[in-house]
Amino acid sequence: SAASTPIRATLFPGDGIGPEIADSVKQIFQAADVPIEWEEHYVGTEIDPRTQSFLTWESLESVRKNKVGLKGPMATPIGKGHRSLNLTLRKELNLYANVRPCYSLPGYKTRYDNVNLITIRENTEGEYSGLEHQVVRGVVESLKIITRQASLRVAEYAFHYAKAHGRERVSAIHKANIMQKTDGLFLKCCREVAEKYPEITYEEVVIDNCCMMLVKNPALFDVLVMPNLYGDIISDLCAGLIGGLGLTPSCNIGEGGIALAEAVHGSAPDIAGKNLANPTALLLSGVTMLRHLDLHDKAEQIQKAILNTIAEGKYRTADLGGSSKTTEFTKAIIDHL
Ligand code: NAD
Repeated sequence: SAASTPIRATLFPGDGIGPEIADSVKQIFQAADVPIEWEEHYVGTEIDPRTQSFLTWESLESVRKNKVGLKGPMATPIGKGHRSLNLTLRKELNLYANVRPCYSLPGYKTRYDNVNLITIRENTEGEYSGLEHQVVRGVVESLKIITRQASLRVAEYAFHYAKAHGRERVSAIHKANIMQKTDGLFLKCCREVAEKYPEITYEEVVIDNCCMMLVKNPALFDVLVMPNLYGDIISDLCAGLIGGLGLTPSCNIGEGGIALAEAVHGSAPDIAGKNLANPTALLLSGVTMLRHLDLHDKAEQIQKAILNTIAEGKYRTADLGGSSKTTEFTKAIIDHL
């Protein structure tokens, strides 16, 4: 039956702590009987001329074919003549939206215990088009590109996500009072899409006001959708609300339904190879991947086991104030499944 045929997913363990936390994911998914068969790909040691990057063409093909993957952190190799790994992934796979679920972890005390929001960031254009130049000495110019196509695409994804996940409200974050043309077009696209989803409340919030509301009362928000730069900043602000890098998952959505989930943090060279890393962010990224695949029962089971382990407080990694090794924390989660 379809249910017993394993789903093939690409796994990039990545660099630094990547292989350690990827091991943790593999063990926990196996213990939970998740019907996934991993296709593992490592970052190459030399530049692949077909991608002009240390990422091999085969590894990109694997994601294109499987349409779903999990990515550990990748250290940016120093030197000229190659494209950055994350940029290569974003361009080659056309990863147009970055989705970050952000919810309070029960038992891990931060300033708020009622955060439950999703940020959805446009990931291909806006202020990140790389079009900067000097006009004359002492005057530089940077072009912010907003297109109807990319704005509609990310708005569609946000409303689709809201509906699929039983969310009630989508807030478009903007500065259209100043950026009338660019953010104006972004909002126009969001409004058009909102009309197709009458069951979801749509609102527009100016970015500065949004920041104030988020730090005063994050429970005011549900799903937020925004252009690239605002998304970059707001998604980190939200990560800070719930406890930081070791905990925050994300998922990149690409053309043709590709979903590439990844932890927000880097390769943590200071603790790599020491069995000290917190695998939670990559694990929760794996959970967002399972939800994307509609494997909601498995997602729920694994998420609960992680949250219960952290809440219980007996096994926590050093970044959360505990003294457990990565492997001990992993075993505790398996015991909670
Ligand atoms: P980092 O996120 O790797 O580390 C920052 C701090 O957070 C370090 O003290 C680290 O020990 C700690 N930390 C991060 N993740 C942790 C975890 N899971 N458990 C416990 N502690 C954790 O950031 P950095 O040091 O600026 O970057 C290191 C390398 O990672 C660089 O080469 C950078 O380019 C790369 N990087 C990659 C990505 C990505 O692949 N998406 C993102 C950010 C940085």
